[in-house]
Amino acid sequence: MGVLFAWGTGMDDEALMREALDEARLAFAEGEVPIGSVVVKDGRIIGRGRNRKEALCDPTAHAEVLALRQAAQSTNSWRLLETTLYTTAEPCLMCLGAALQARVSRIVFGCREPKFGAVSHLIENGHLRDANHCLTVKDGVLEQQCAQLLQDFFAKRRTEVSTAAK
Ligand code: ZN
Repeated sequence: MGVLFAWGTGMDDEALMREALDEARLAFAEGEVPIGSVVVKDGRIIGRGRNRKEALCDPTAHAEVLALRQAAQSTNSWRLLETTLYTTAEPCLMCLGAALQARVSRIVFGCREPKFGAVSHLIENGHLRDANHCLTVKDGVLEQQCAQLLQDFFAKRRTEVSTAAK
């Protein structure tokens, strides 16, 4: 927490996505699908989260929800105005809903998620279509690294399953 980045260098989104990737790697190490998120306000990380569905036995324990929750607690407000949600994979419908509820102003994600992703088909000129407030979206930041981590996780899991079956 409290890492400060200079804005306008063009590298900020990548630097902050690397923080989300760190969270995703923690999830990987814990046997969770490796997705990580950070919430950023004024260049400062105010919330971090990683997928913890297995550990918490909670279908809503997605990285984005946990990061938004921590951000709200750390700022003592559920209104996360002028914040950016960085997340390694395209948010699902629940997480998009949570970001809208929190009044997040920007979502930046790494790789697309063809199964549960709920954002990419709603992007129109960098904005979220039909949002009740202005929400800008940027995708494809460190896309390769974000996708690779997921591919590695599922490849490892397949190997484990096939080894266990022998
Ligand atoms: Zn989600």
